Amino acid sequence: MTGPAAPAFSIRPEAAEAPPSGIVEVFSYARGREDLIPLYVGEGDLPTPGFLVEAAQSALAAGETFYTWQRGLPELREAIARYHARVWGAQVSPDRFTVTIGGMHATQMAMRIVAGPGDEVLIPSPAWPNFDGAVRVAGAAPVAVPLSAGPAGWRLDLGRLAAAVTPRTRAMLINSPANPTGWTATREDLAGILALARRHGLWIVADEIYARFVHDPVLVAAGRSPSFRDVMEEGDRVMFVQTFSKNWAMTGWRLGWLETPPDLGPIIENLVQYSTSGVPAFLQRAAICALDEGEELVADQIARARRGRAIVCEGLAATNVVDLPPPPAAFYAFFRVLGRPDSRRLALELVDRAGVGLAPGSAFGEGGTAHLRLCFLRDPGQLEEAVARLARVLPDLARPQAN
Ligand code: PMP
Repeated sequence: MTGPAAPAFSIRPEAAEAPPSGIVEVFSYARGREDLIPLYVGEGDLPTPGFLVEAAQSALAAGETFYTWQRGLPELREAIARYHARVWGAQVSPDRFTVTIGGMHATQMAMRIVAGPGDEVLIPSPAWPNFDGAVRVAGAAPVAVPLSAGPAGWRLDLGRLAAAVTPRTRAMLINSPANPTGWTATREDLAGILALARRHGLWIVADEIYARFVHDPVLVAAGRSPSFRDVMEEGDRVMFVQTFSKNWAMTGWRLGWLETPPDLGPIIENLVQYSTSGVPAFLQRAAICALDEGEELVADQIARARRGRAIVCEGLAATNVVDLPPPPAAFYAFFRVLGRPDSRRLALELVDRAGVGLAPGSAFGEGGTAHLRLCFLRDPGQLEEAVARLARVLPDLARPQAN
């Protein structure tokens, strides 16, 4: 990926060369089209429910309008700790948590702590493009480690990951369950990655934000995806990126958290001071409410994703021109159309011919150039309509004989 043209005046290369998002092109192409079903963005279609909106409104009305704790309200950090005890059965001390402006800000701070110019960060790929961007903005070099796609879905070859380590490697950014592939590391995968990190003194930045959006029956029985938390010990160099965006339908609130070993607390406090200077206190009141009273909402979101997955996977399989192993987790269908390796062109054609907006796989790195990403955390009726439209045109657009 190449960045935008360098401006005439002198600015830092990390800023000038930040790569553009490949999703934006399709998004801009489709802008203003009536009747388009937009499935390219990674978010659900339900607005944040009233009980969370009211929590923020009453905090605002009560005058919570001042500068606040750099690392987050103590009450919120305690609520995050309670949430970890509930979901992961883990006793995590609140001093490991910092409240952030979404998962993106957490990722960005993690990168600024672990990597800079001359350093490399390994990223299993295809991957959410913001990982690549966050590494580059920190001045470091992302190194994509290709996941392999097979009939049973995506896999990470640990040997391949190990072979990508060089003397410059500082960290591995591991997103499981993954956007866009749905790849979900097994406990053994995680133990292997951790062993590799220990052997080379690398950081792991773990993005497990989709941990609860599981669909595969084995994962559903466990209630969540395997976590580094299941295999790590005190002293391991692992950070966790988290967000309120997906579980609680709060993408626009920009709320998340970063978990680190506690001795990094004072360093993170400074990084917050010199970037955002903290997350608005009245928003944090809604975050506390989400963690303590939002379980029904999370269950509804997961059920909506699971229903969407069934509609999309069954509907697209019936076209016989789509290669889509059902994703074990998260809320994306990442599929290939037979004989069409050019996802960018195909995504533009689908805007015109089907009135459906999909993200081109090329936006997620090399291993994804032949794929399209569809977000299925949406209204089931709308998904049925989108699948019907795709089923009408895909057999025409596919070239099965070319495969
Ligand atoms: N991690 C992954 C894997 C994501 O897909 C996203 C959002 N698409 C995020 C982090 C960040 O979400 P936010 O900044 O909204 O919290």
